[in-house]
Amino acid sequence: MDACGVCGSDAFLQKGGFGADKLPVVPGHEAAGHVVSVGDDADADWVGRQVAIYYISGPADSRWARAGAENIGPDIRRMGVDLDGAFADYVVRPLSTLVPVSPALDAATVAVATDALATPFHALTRIGHVQPGETLAVLGLGGIGSNAIQIGKHLGARVVAIGRSTPKLELAERLGADVLVRSDEGPDAVRRAMGDQADVVVQCVGDPAMDRFAIDIAGFRARVVLVGTSLGQFTASATDFVWRELSLLGSRGFVRQDIVDVLDLVQAGALVTDHLTASTRPLDEANAALEDLGSGRVLRTVLINR
Ligand SMILES: [Zn+2]
Repeated sequence: MDACGVCGSDAFLQKGGFGADKLPVVPGHEAAGHVVSVGDDADADWVGRQVAIYYISGPADSRWARAGAENIGPDIRRMGVDLDGAFADYVVRPLSTLVPVSPALDAATVAVATDALATPFHALTRIGHVQPGETLAVLGLGGIGSNAIQIGKHLGARVVAIGRSTPKLELAERLGADVLVRSDEGPDAVRRAMGDQADVVVQCVGDPAMDRFAIDIAGFRARVVLVGTSLGQFTASATDFVWRELSLLGSRGFVRQDIVDVLDLVQAGALVTDHLTASTRPLDEANAALEDLGSGRVLRTVLINR
């Protein structure tokens, strides 16, 4: 392993969010490295290549994998949740989970692309089907939401950034947001500030109050895409959905192809990662990196290991 991102789901794991039965486990699912050894039946050309790791493995013949949705299904296993992850010197992974990456990209960029870029990319393209000219409202401007802003702009949407903190709203502006609104002003103020209805709302905050907020700001025929996870409940009525023909969708992580697509966009200069890779620590400071995240001081820390 050369680099591994530390993100909100690692903190969620630490708190037992994935289930206390998952612990103990080595975290780490945003991983970049290079291949040092392959099995006897594999092509030896893999050795020495820089790779990103797709953190999910599962049966290739499942109905979900065959439909291009290898991120879901009853038998998937997640590196850093169900089995030991990449806060480590080495991992052993199936070749099918490796994504060859240009050596021109630095490992920290590759690592953060595997989740911080791939997750919002999946939510906006494969789940939300954001179209050019649509208005996209992004709730929450952390490691996922900030990148939903730049990906939404790349897809040609008009992007409304909704967040709590001034530095994060400033980051959203730098990443291309057309409208900035403070979430603490409430849904009515957000609707007025948007100027037009939200066609897609992507909800990136792990807070059920914000799930409800997302429904409140969605327009007619809008798609509300939940990305942030919380175990808390929110209340909605059928009329919320019927009267506006609203769709409520969940987006779970990403598929391997999303990593390929976002790395292509990074190489083409369409997406940036400097806001994600600014904070680095050596691998043995993983606990401090989790504390940095919990304090809100950073969007991401990348553990560097070489
Ligand atoms: Zn992550």
